[in-house]
Amino acid sequence: MLHWENGLILTKADLAIDVRRRRPRAFVSHAHSDHIARHEYALCTPETAALYQHRLGKRRTLAMPYRQPIDWGGLRLTAYPAGHCLGSAMLLAEDGERSLLYTGDFKLGESATAAKAELPKADILVIESTYGHPDYRLPPREQALDQLFSLVREIIDAGATPVVQAYALGKGQEVTRLLTDQGFPVLQHRDVYAVSKVYEACGMKLGEFKKFTGRSIPGWVVVAPPQAGYFEGIGRQVRIAVTGWAIDPRTKYRFRVDHAIPLSDHADYDELFEAVERVSPRVVYCTHGPESFVDRLREAGHDAHPLGRASQRSLF
Ligand SMILES: [Zn+2]
Repeated sequence: MLHWENGLILTKADLAIDVRRRRPRAFVSHAHSDHIARHEYALCTPETAALYQHRLGKRRTLAMPYRQPIDWGGLRLTAYPAGHCLGSAMLLAEDGERSLLYTGDFKLGESATAAKAELPKADILVIESTYGHPDYRLPPREQALDQLFSLVREIIDAGATPVVQAYALGKGQEVTRLLTDQGFPVLQHRDVYAVSKVYEACGMKLGEFKKFTGRSIPGWVVVAPPQAGYFEGIGRQVRIAVTGWAIDPRTKYRFRVDHAIPLSDHADYDELFEAVERVSPRVVYCTHGPESFVDRLREAGHDAHPLGRASQRSLF
C-alpha cells in the first residue's frame, strides 16, 4: 500500500506525499518550498492551495478541507490541522483494514495563525522529527513571547528599529500577528508582504501592517526573511531571529543577529514524544530528524524505524 522513495508514496492510490519532484498526483501537506513541486494534480487544504499557487503559479488542485474525508484510489483520505502554518495538514489514509497518519511539519502548541494540531489514532505513524534530540526542549511559549515583546519595546524606546527575521511563509505572518496584537505595527519585507496578502485573502487577519519600502517609521517593527540581510538607510537597527534553533546559544552568531528567541513552528522533543503517545501506533517511521530519536522511541517501547533519504521500502 505504501512505500518510501525520497518521499512517501501511497502505492495503492498512486499518490505521492510531499514529494519534491513533479508527480501526476500528490498530497501537499503545506506550501513550504521543501514540500512542493509542480505536480499535475495536487491534493491539499484550500489555504495550502492558495499559498502553493502563490509560489508556483496556477495549478490544478483538489481542495481537502480539514476533517472532510474523500475516497481516492481505494483509500479514504482525511486532512487534519498540523499547527505549523496556515493550511498545514496531516494526512490520515485508511484502506478499511489499516490506517496511516503522515504528520508533515507540525507543532502541537498554540499558533497565532494556524489551526491547532489534531492527532487521530493510526496503526502506522510517519512523523517529521526535526527536533528529535533532548537538547531541543523549548521554553514555554509565554516566556519566549515576553522576551520578544520586551526586547522590541526596549529597542523602540532607545530610538532604534527592531528587525525581526522570520521566514516569508508562516513565521513572518505569525510574528506579525503577535506583534500587532501587542500594539506594535509592522513593516513587512515584500516577500513576507506578498504571502500575508494570501493569508488575508484566506480570512486570516494580521493586524496593522504594510509593505516596507526601505524607510523605517518610529515605533514600527520591520519583519523580513533571513536572506534580506542588513538594511542600509534605516539608521540603527537591532536584529532578532525567531527560531527553535535559538535553544542553542551559538544560534545568534550563526544567524548573524543580535538576539535569537526560541519561538518555533515545529514540535520540540517533548511534543514529538507526546504526538507518538497520542497516535499510539503499532509502528513509527521517523523522517527529517536525528536517528537517535528512533533509539529513544525504541527505549520507550515503540516499534520505531528511520526513513532515510535513499531508503526504499514497503511500509506495509
Ligand atoms: Zn514547513
